[in-house]
Amino acid sequence: MLKPESYILRIGHRPERDQRVTTHVGLSSRALGASGMYLAADDQKVADSIADVAHRFGGTYFCENNVKWKSCINTFKRNGGKVVHLTMYGLRLQDVIPKIRTEEKILVVVGAEKVPGDMYELADYNVAVANQPHSEISALALFLDHLYEGAELELTFPDAELEVLPTAIGKTTVKHDEHHGDEA
Ligand code: SAM
Repeated sequence: MLKPESYILRIGHRPERDQRVTTHVGLSSRALGASGMYLAADDQKVADSIADVAHRFGGTYFCENNVKWKSCINTFKRNGGKVVHLTMYGLRLQDVIPKIRTEEKILVVVGAEKVPGDMYELADYNVAVANQPHSEISALALFLDHLYEGAELELTFPDAELEVLPTAIGKTTVKHDEHHGDEA
């Protein structure tokens, strides 16, 4: 496992409009080295689609549905973790990432709609990935890449039902030790 261990807390999710983005927050963070996501909303459909990918493509990434965001943060802190809130108003990623790399485990908080004001106080680090508005998916992907300095691209995902083989042209997957060209 990469160090520091990272977990995601997704706040502000609105089931009627954020399902796709929240699913991609989960899938992107899984692919880039995070261990799991806490979803501070009741949306089992999102949790199930992330769990389905994690099951088929391997590894131990989890998605916990319907957490209370403040108690999630408080429990994480009580267990020795630090909280990183991604916000365009925060300190520059490139200035704070060396210190964050020294932590044992971190909870990375990303918003959807307007983030509650007390989030800025609860965070150990408010971090901006450029002080410009963009997206939680791009902010999280860049944050994890800077955190792990590219090592996340070398990760393997144990017990995968389906594995993609890098291919110059076309698609190659391996399923249960059988090779399937152009099937995925
Ligand atoms: N308008 C909202 C507000 O003022 O809090 C933010 C909406 S933004 C689309 C959703 C999330 O993307 C934010 O809560 C933050 O986590 C992330 N985000 C957007 N731009 C960012 C940046 N430059 N640096 C870090 N995170 C960013």
